[in-house]
Amino acid sequence: MTATSPGGTTPTDEAVRRRIAAARLWAAHQAPYLASAVFALRPVILEAAAGDDTGAPVADPEFRAFPADTRWNLHVEPGTALATPVEEIGWWMLHQVGHLVRGHAGRSPVRPGPGEQVSHAAGAIRDEAAHRWNQAADAEINDDLEAEELHGPTGVVSPAELGLPVNRTAEEYLPMLDVLAEALGRGGRALAESIDCGSAVDGVDRTYEDTGSGDGLTTLDRELLERTIAAGIQDRISARSEVPSGWRRWAEERLRPSINWRARLGALIRRGLSTVAGQVDFSYHKPSRRAGAYDRIIPPSMVRPVPDTVLVIDTSGSVTNELLRRLLAEVTGIIDGVAGPARRLRAFCCDVAPHPVQVVRRASDIELVGGGGTDMRAGLAAALALRPRPDLVIVLTDGETPWPERRPSAHVVVCLIGDGGHAPDWASVARIPADAAPRVTARGES
Ligand SMILES: [Zn+2]
Repeated sequence: MTATSPGGTTPTDEAVRRRIAAARLWAAHQAPYLASAVFALRPVILEAAAGDDTGAPVADPEFRAFPADTRWNLHVEPGTALATPVEEIGWWMLHQVGHLVRGHAGRSPVRPGPGEQVSHAAGAIRDEAAHRWNQAADAEINDDLEAEELHGPTGVVSPAELGLPVNRTAEEYLPMLDVLAEALGRGGRALAESIDCGSAVDGVDRTYEDTGSGDGLTTLDRELLERTIAAGIQDRISARSEVPSGWRRWAEERLRPSINWRARLGALIRRGLSTVAGQVDFSYHKPSRRAGAYDRIIPPSMVRPVPDTVLVIDTSGSVTNELLRRLLAEVTGIIDGVAGPARRLRAFCCDVAPHPVQVVRRASDIELVGGGGTDMRAGLAAALALRPRPDLVIVLTDGETPWPERRPSAHVVVCLIGDGGHAPDWASVARIPADAAPRVTARGES
């Protein structure tokens, strides 16, 4: 399926455009703090999926979420757009903005095969894990929308309706939804409808996306847009306007990452290791209103396979060795905390090319070698070529480097040092200030 030309002027196109424009206005009015985000979405009108006897387009449920990609394209199937109320299209716009700015594609545990694209078709082709991640990400977004009385259409995931705690992350909802889905499934019921929100939720290209054209927002565009949105939210908070707590937290973190970088880095690495190991922090902090309905659920057993982690260290020279050493100590401290200390680490130093792999027991044993330019494509390729294959790759870099276009087969956490560089949208990113102070209570490298 391909997009029609932007100047397409069929009556159907015109009607769809008017509807999308009305939905945008509605969305911007409902959540003024997201207005710039809503207007940054790029509607791409697809060819109609199907028509009735008279040739008029009919709704295709596979496109009901107006699926987005990480370049902020919003895919609009004409029959679906014409059959969906304007307010509902507007709701999906706010919902897709949530996936995009919260970086769900980068956080997704769903890995594509090499060069794989998936069709929009639900069920048969996308597997259960991809659906569950989509639902967990939806839960993270929808509770903030519900806090604004913006309730989604029927069939979407709602933490409150499922009796789950609110204000959690997708990573926290994932195991909860697994347990619920299994319990409900025994009674022949589904947790929620299978809705595909597009590659914005998992970073896996869909066949209907026009990936060849490269149209859409670049990484730099997105970076600037996110700062604008975050600054707008801060302004509204200063002016005492209402902004839901999830969005406040997001804006705070986006604008002042230095405050929380250590916590964020720790959370990302732990998430990466947990996702890899299939071992998760599963706890309810307070019983849900509906706990009784699920009281026969047996929690999943906790298994602790040790995930294999590889460090890729940018030694091109713009980051001081002193800072790299401090960060390495932090990173390995976190890994030890999750996986236990009696374990070997593999590490690459990388400038324009990767240096030989080092196998060490402690961060302080890593020899920092290199200088000159940087090409992290080479560093990541070397890390992924290792056998046994790593489950988690942690990259320490200032981000002044080209990155691979496509999501690699391992989970990647990028420690992005300083303000200058960028990280790809398929990675989980912790921004670290170039003047990051050592931990006050540091116990030293161990
Ligand atoms: Zn969604």
